[in-house]
Amino acid sequence: KNVRKLSMGGLEAAPGKAEEGRIFVFVRLRPMSKKEKDAGSRSCVRIVNRKEVYLTEFASENDYLRLKRVRGRHFCFDAAFPDSTDQEEVYATTTSELVERVLQGQNGTVFCYGATGAGKTYTMLGTTDNPGVMVLAIKDLFAKIRQCSLDGAHSVSLSYLEVYNETVRDLLSPGRPLVLREDKQGTVAAGLTQYRAFSTDEVMRLLQQGNQNRTTEPTRVNETSSRSHAILQVVAEYKVEDPATKSIITRVGKLSLIDLAGSERALATDQRTLRSIEGANINRSLLALSSCINALVEGKKHIPYRNSKLTQLLKDSLGGSCNTVMIANVSPSSISFGETQNTLHWADRAKEIKTKPSNINEDPFKVPETETDQSKLVLQLQKE
Ligand code: ADP
Ligand code: MG
Repeated sequence: KNVRKLSMGGLEAAPGKAEEGRIFVFVRLRPMSKKEKDAGSRSCVRIVNRKEVYLTEFASENDYLRLKRVRGRHFCFDAAFPDSTDQEEVYATTTSELVERVLQGQNGTVFCYGATGAGKTYTMLGTTDNPGVMVLAIKDLFAKIRQCSLDGAHSVSLSYLEVYNETVRDLLSPGRPLVLREDKQGTVAAGLTQYRAFSTDEVMRLLQQGNQNRTTEPTRVNETSSRSHAILQVVAEYKVEDPATKSIITRVGKLSLIDLAGSERALATDQRTLRSIEGANINRSLLALSSCINALVEGKKHIPYRNSKLTQLLKDSLGGSCNTVMIANVSPSSISFGETQNTLHWADRAKEIKTKPSNINEDPFKVPETETDQSKLVLQLQKE
């Protein structure tokens, strides 16, 4: 299979600034749905080559019929996936490199964003038959971590939480809202369940269960709210020998995988648009994410992370020391033209964010955990 490997972090770094990186941005087009076909919609998105997206701008249906000619715009990304792309290829191109970095003790973050129905949850979680990035990343971690660890001992623990209406909830053990607090590793949700995972099958079940705990719109009980953000955090720990002192140290890497709320009405590429939609009843966290991205792109000193729960949680994953990947999901249908245009503009802007991949997280003073010592884990995964 023709899967391109990207060199994260240093791709467009200036000479002598090797550790300065940027956010990697991908676009995934989903297949036209039956509903869209039945509505007689035309496709307005074309993946021109493996990096380029062409968005057709229908002036109006009449113009199209009269002129048989349309205007359009090209966008260029790190990769653009046509609707035939399978889950494995999306994973391999966007995230496998990040998993490697997590196994070197770094942090990494993958966001999926786009309008409701654009394919975010399919890309992140997927289905039992076609597992998405979250599951494939953990599968890959399981496969590789054993070889990394000095004596084979390692741990992979996960937490899954939701931000809905500025309330943070544990998706693995639903209950009262969680309070965010700052500690030396960044912002943490106090009392969040850390599950120790042992196999990929368990993880799929666990995440599907978690997804069922996501907030549903009161009017549509069977559908997940388009205003809920789901954040999966995977922490991988294993032991290595310190080359200098020959002592055994624990290395920790954290991977955050985020299925954002529907971006409709909330994606703005400039401050003017941002202000004009601020009054409307839209998702505060997503708006704050837009503001932070704008501030980062413009090189501002103050980044308004504190404006929302989502941006507080992602503080260590957006700007400074992190390897960040964004996957923009779009529908091909002309019905969604406006949303697709917004998503592509936003994705285009996100390319300009500079990041600095972190140093390796390792703690020489920490006594390595053994396979049986699970005292720090709140709950152990229930075996069926
Ligand atoms: P979102 O989470 O962005 O609201 P979903 O991931 O739920 O959107 O996708 C909407 C619908 O489209 C779902 O029925 C999903 O199974 C389907 N879908 C999305 N992306 C793909 C894809 N790449 N291939 C096949 N079906 C897809
Ligand atoms: Mg969804």
